[in-house]
Amino acid sequence: MSAQILDGKATAEKIREEIKDDVSRFVAQTGVQPALAVVLVGDNPASQVYVRNKETACVKAGMKSLMFRLNAETTSDALCDLIEKLNKDDSVHGILVQLPLPKGIDEKRILDLIDPQKDVDAFHPENVGLLSQGRPRFLPCTPYGIQQLLIRYNIETKGKRVVVIGRSDIVGKPMGLLLLQKGLGGDATVTVCHSRTDNLADVVKEADIVVAAIGKAQFVTADMIKPGAVVVDVGMNRIQKEIVDENGERKTVSKLVGDVDFDAVKEVASWITPVPGGVGPLTVTMLLLNTLNAARRLVADAQ
Ligand code: NAP
Repeated sequence: MSAQILDGKATAEKIREEIKDDVSRFVAQTGVQPALAVVLVGDNPASQVYVRNKETACVKAGMKSLMFRLNAETTSDALCDLIEKLNKDDSVHGILVQLPLPKGIDEKRILDLIDPQKDVDAFHPENVGLLSQGRPRFLPCTPYGIQQLLIRYNIETKGKRVVVIGRSDIVGKPMGLLLLQKGLGGDATVTVCHSRTDNLADVVKEADIVVAAIGKAQFVTADMIKPGAVVVDVGMNRIQKEIVDENGERKTVSKLVGDVDFDAVKEVASWITPVPGGVGPLTVTMLLLNTLNAARRLVADAQ
């Protein structure tokens, strides 16, 4: 039987409506409009798209979006000056530096400089530390979105064996931490795998829930999945695919695919996220929620 779809797009839309209502209530109560500063350095085409999506989502939710576009020759010092200015600006509640930064810029130095109270991506060591201690200030957007998706589809994580493939600081590691936490959307028994994991397929096959965050197109195949498992695909990979068009001519098109071989895995899994329309829309949504929460906290502290 074919798996049911975990519809990230629809879930994201629902959460965005909730956020929009909360923002308008917050603005009515405080007179403050939550504001997100987005810093983009260089002209990476994918980053330009991500940043535009974030800007649009912010505005639709009733928040202010402040864009800072810097050229690729920007120095670490100049970027630090901008971050310090945004840290001090009381009208800015969230700061996001779009990654990757151009070569030559010290990424860690920049991210560590963001005021942890405004660190809506939750990359600052202070926020990572708070998360690992089970008392998070902000939850990292992609894992947070995945956790919300599971909760909203009533997919039980308590006591379940979860295998996360990938140990990046942005997705894999914080995903493991979130699922390990006590309470709703947590209490799982978590294994985090990576490129040095022995017998990866055997480990994945034990999982009730698989989260694939590898960055390799269609890496997770049907034979790696336990029948009935829940499969969450974080991957976003562009592949070239040959198709025959309506005139019978062969042509090569670019296609977005995940880290999971969707067509085959959906025949084994019970639930699965599609790509696109799965995890992606939730990431931006949780960024909005983190920005609203940052504004709530900063405004309450100032009173
Ligand atoms: P990343 O920093 O490149 O990390 C990839 C991880 O996968 C690493 O831990 C790596 O292991 C592991 N890995 C690579 N090859 C492997 C293999 N053969 N077997 C087992 N593990 C392997 O990537 P990321 O930032 O976490 O992103 C992962 C994917 O998610 C990408 O496609 C990215 O575009 C996508 N993504 C999507 C969203 C969204 O909103 N949908 C957000 C973020 C990322 P090592 O540590 O040993 O090298």
